[in-house]
This record gives sequence, structure tokens and C-alpha cells, in this order.
Amino acid sequence: MDLAFSPDEAAFALEARSWLAEHLVRPPAFADLDAEIAWGRAWQAELAAGRWVGLWWPEAYGGRGADPVQVAIFNMEYARAGAPQPVNRVGINLAGPTLLAHGTEAQKARWLPSILDASEIWCQLFSEPDAGSDLAALATRATPVDGGWRLSGQKVWTSYAQAARWGICLARTDADAPKHRGISYLVVDMQAPGIDVRPLRQITGETEFNEVFLDEVFVPDDHLVGGLHQGWAVANTTLAHERGTNFPFKEQVVHEVFLDELYRAAAASGRLDDVAVADDLADAWVRLRLLRLHNFRTLSRLGRGEEPGPESSWVKLAWTDMTQHLSSTALDVVGPSAPLWGPWERQWLWSQAASIAGGTSEIQRTIIAERLLGLPRG
Ligand SMILES: Cc1cc2nc3c(=O)[nH]c(=O)nc-3n(C[C@H](O)[C@H](O)[C@H](O)COP(=O)(O)OP(=O)(O)OC[C@H]3O[C@@H](n4cnc5c(N)ncnc54)[C@H](O)[C@@H]3O)c2cc1C
Repeated sequence: MDLAFSPDEAAFALEARSWLAEHLVRPPAFADLDAEIAWGRAWQAELAAGRWVGLWWPEAYGGRGADPVQVAIFNMEYARAGAPQPVNRVGINLAGPTLLAHGTEAQKARWLPSILDASEIWCQLFSEPDAGSDLAALATRATPVDGGWRLSGQKVWTSYAQAARWGICLARTDADAPKHRGISYLVVDMQAPGIDVRPLRQITGETEFNEVFLDEVFVPDDHLVGGLHQGWAVANTTLAHERGTNFPFKEQVVHEVFLDELYRAAAASGRLDDVAVADDLADAWVRLRLLRLHNFRTLSRLGRGEEPGPESSWVKLAWTDMTQHLSSTALDVVGPSAPLWGPWERQWLWSQAASIAGGTSEIQRTIIAERLLGLPRG
């Protein structure tokens, strides 16, 4: 099997690498989330001006019509350059692809350009206190009124809601239908009256997540994406992109860079002489190789024009195990001499979210058992 990139793909990688080398400025230390978001907007606008955002989107909507291999190459180059995650990632990775697949022409024209340059930030209003893994159990209700709906309920875990202009929201529009069939997919104006965003402090001390309370929020008719009560099918597009194709390539490279740094730190401090630490570093290397092989398999499928399919659950699980193992190893490498609070401690705390975000590890194992291994339903 030939895992090398073609000459055209290598040239594309070089173009991306050169652009990043010329334009990327290291983010400063931010005083607060507002400062971080302002910086992130400016950086994403610059990326968009270079046409490096939404690469696979059709040219008519600001993309390059890039193929999946080019997208993966760009994500790897982006990570290798140490570039920060784009601030409007919910817009780029979730809302945009969903609008491209299910939106009307007017919706695409209205919302897609401002996703790419981050002039309007998006959030995802899916999870609720009693609807996470079982998302279809959601209770937020949209009641029809003149010209649209009134939306009431509570969402939770909503990343970047405090900065968002728009939210993709699942709401129940038919309370009598079976739970998957009475849901609609709405775009909510996050500045509308009746919205109360309350930041939640996380274990890292940051407040990226929020609770969002919706009290009779008006949503106009033309903010319905897909058909009335067809929201579950539309949400599946969003979820396929969330678990899907972009993040594992970037994460693979981000962690390869982490591992290099850790190895050098262990060698410099003498920690590499500790057999347990050396074993853990070797184990992290093996897990990263496994993730890389899963990624190449995904890429082969995408290159053949196939969907990532349930195999994306293997990738998610391999990434989770790898990032949690590597982050624990990092704490062993830096050891008790580490400052009380440094980048590795933050990395370890963040890695705890890996087995929850985008579908928990238990749910991934169930998908693997039922859909890949053909085991009986649990
Ligand atoms: C970093 C991060 C960012 C997020 N950002 C957003 C966002 O922007 N917008 C948004 O809408 N949501 C977001 N989420 C929410 C995320 O999608 C949910 O946390 C996730 O789907 C799990 O739901 P839950 O927290 O309600 O847990 P639950 O579904 O209540 O699960 C609790 C525990 O029970 C287990 N469990 C549940 N059902 C089963 C089952 N059938 N079989 C076996 N075990 C089961 C789970 O694995 C878990 O261990 C984010 C989460 C994280 C960690």
C-alpha cells in the first residue's frame, strides 16, 4: 500500500505551509475570553482572506471546492504550524456544512459568508440537562405563532454561546409524535429578547461553556432549516460532521508535536531513565501510530467518495484513549518539580473532556459493537 501523497498533494501542502509561515503570528497571553475571541476573529478573517477556511465548500460560497485529501493535508499543516483553533469552529464545522446540505439559497447567502470570516460566531444548542447521549429526548419546545415560533426551554454545555450571534437549535415542534419525529432544526438569534446565557466555570478555570435559558424567544419562519418536524435528519448531518472527518487529522499532528516536546523534556531532565516513564512514552507513540492508521483508512474511504461511516467511532475512541494517556504521561514527565499550574496541567484537565464531548466513549463502544461487530443490541 502506498501511503505517500501525490506530487500535486505535496505541492498543495507546500503552498499551505508557506502561507502559514508568512501569516501566522503566535497568540499572546489573553487577559480574558473577550480578548481571546477578538484575537481569534481577526486571525480567522485573515485565514478567510487567504481562502483557507471552509476549504471543501463550493467556490460559490467562499470555499475552494477542495477534495478530502487536500482538507486533511491542510489540517495537518495547520496543526504542525502550531496555529490556534479557529474561533468560529461551530460555524465552520457544524452550522456551515448543515446549511450547505439542507439550507435554502437565501439561508446560504445570508449566513455562509459571515461564518467563514468569523464576523458572526455560531453556537450549538443541542444538549439539555436531560438530553445528552439520548439527544432525541430533548424538551425545548417551539410553539407556532404568527410568522414563526416561540421557543422555550433550557440548553447546556453550549460552547461560546456568550460570543455567538447565531445558534443551531433542536426543538420539539410536535409533542405527540414519536420522539425522533417531532423535532425541528432552527437558527436562533442569540441577541433576541428572552435569551439568558449563563457561563459555567470549568475544571480548567475557563468559562467556555454556558447554560442557555430560552423564554418565549421568537424565531421567524425562514429560520427553519430542512422541513418542519424533519430536524432529526438535519441534526444527523451536523453530528456526522462533529464526529467526522476534520478534527482527527489535526489532533494527530498536535499530539505528535506534544510527544516530541515531552520526549525532549524527559531526556533533558533525566526522567527518561525511569523505565516506567520511558514505557509510557513508547506507549503514547504506539497509540499515536494507531490513530494515524485509522486516519489513513478514513482518508481512503473519503478519497473513494464514501462517508466516514460508523468507523468514525473507532477514530473517536482511539483519539480519546491516546490523548488521555499522553496527557497523564506528561504529568509523570514534568513530575513534582513542575510549576503548580502550567500548560501540561491544563492539557491533562482538558483531556478529561475527550471521553464526553461529541458523544461519550460508552456510546462509541455501543456503535462499534452493534454496527461494526454486529453484536446484539444492548
Ligand atoms: C468539551 C465539550 C464541549 C461541548 N460542547 C457542546 C456544545 O457546544 N453544544 C452542545 O449542544 N453540547 C455540547 N457538549 C455536550 C456533549 O455533547 C454531551 O456532554 C454528550 O453528548 C454527553 O451527554 P451528557 O453530558 O448529557 O451525558 P449523559 O448522556 O447524561 O451520560 C452520562 C453518562 O452515562 C453514560 N450513558 C448514557 N447513555 C448510555 C447508554 N445508552 N449506554 C451506556 N452508557 C450510557 C454516558 O456514557 C456517560 O458516562 C459538549 C461537551 C463537552 C465535554
